[in-house]
Amino acid sequence: MTTTPPAAFGVGSATARPGEITYGDLPVLDLPSGGQERLPVIIAQGRADGPTLWLTANIHGAELTGLPVIHRLLTADLAAQLRGTIIALPSLNPAGLRTADRLPYYSHTDPNRLWPTRHPERAADAPPPSPYEQIVERVFAQFARRADFVIDLHNAAIRTLPFTIVDRVLYRGEGDRARAVALGERLSGLASAFGLSVVREAVAERYVTQVLHRSVTGSIVNVLGVPAITVELGMTGAVDPGAVEAGIAGVHNALRWAGMLPGDPAPITACPIVDPGYATKRDDTARARVAGIVTQELQPGAPFSAGQTLATSVDLWGRPLPDSAIVAPADGWLIGWSNGLAKYAGQVVAALAVRDDAPLVAAYPGE
Ligand SMILES: [Zn+2]
Repeated sequence: MTTTPPAAFGVGSATARPGEITYGDLPVLDLPSGGQERLPVIIAQGRADGPTLWLTANIHGAELTGLPVIHRLLTADLAAQLRGTIIALPSLNPAGLRTADRLPYYSHTDPNRLWPTRHPERAADAPPPSPYEQIVERVFAQFARRADFVIDLHNAAIRTLPFTIVDRVLYRGEGDRARAVALGERLSGLASAFGLSVVREAVAERYVTQVLHRSVTGSIVNVLGVPAITVELGMTGAVDPGAVEAGIAGVHNALRWAGMLPGDPAPITACPIVDPGYATKRDDTARARVAGIVTQELQPGAPFSAGQTLATSVDLWGRPLPDSAIVAPADGWLIGWSNGLAKYAGQVVAALAVRDDAPLVAAYPGE
C-alpha cells in the first residue's frame, strides 16, 4: 500500500494536518447586522493519502442526530488509523439550528432544494442569489475542489427506522449513459456498505418535479458525478441514542468500503435493518382518506402487500369513520409514521418504501 503523505489543503480557516484532527470555520454569508454566518469545519486527515469523504449534517436546523454522530466519530484515534481525509460540516444551517427550525430564518425555501443542477434555471435577468443560495455557492465550490464521496445526515419523523436514501442517477444522451451506470453501481455499493435499510428516491420524472435533484446529495451525484447518500437517523428535534450508534457504525462501514479504514463493513445492530429482497423507492401516497384521528396498524419496519390496510381513521370519540382505510399502493415496508394523529383529508400519514421496478439510472426527464 502506498504511504504517500496527503497533499496540504484547507477549508476556510481549517488546515488539514496528517494524522490529526483540525478545526476551523468557513464564512458563507455576510450578515446585515455585521459579521458573517460561518459553518464549522472539522478535518480528520490520515497519514497516508487516500479518498476524501465529506460528512455533512443539519441542513434542516431541527435535525440534530448528525451533530453527535460527527462529534463522536471524529477522534484523534480515527485520524491515526485513517487513509485519506474526512471533512465534516456538522451544521449546514446554523441559523435553523439556533431557532430549532427546518429552514434558516433568512429563507422561505427548503435549503435542501437549492443546490446546483446541470440544467441551469437562472435566467440572465433573474434576481441575485437568495441568502441561502449564497451559502450553497460557497459550500458547493468546496465540494467541487475535492470530493470522492459524500454522506449527508438528516432526520425524519419520531417513529421512523433509520434508513439511507439513494438518489436517481440521471444522464444526458446515450454518450453519457455508461458513465451514469458506473456511478449508479458505485452509489449503490456505498449505500449497501453503509448498512442501513436502503430506499431509492422517486422515479426520475417525479424526482425532478419534486426538485430532489437539487438536494445536497442529488446535486453532488448529478453535477459532480460522485457517490453521495442521504442518511435519515430517526426522529427530528431530539436524538435517539440507537440512531447515533447506527450512524457512527454506518460511517465506519462507508470508510471501510472506501479503503479509508481496514477491514470489511460489519452489520449494524443498533437498529432494525429491512431488506425485502427487491429495490424500493420512497412513497408518500399513504394519505388520510377523510379528516379524523389515524389508527396505525403496523410497526415501523413491518412488511406489507399491495392493497393491505395500513391505517384507518376514527372520529375524536373513537368511532370508526367509513371509507377511511388507507391501503398500500404496492408491496413494500413501512419506514415510519408521520408525527401526529389528527389529519385532514389528503395529509400524509406514513413514509413507505415500495417496490421499485424502474432502473436507478435514467435519462434526464424530457431529454
Ligand atoms: Zn432533512
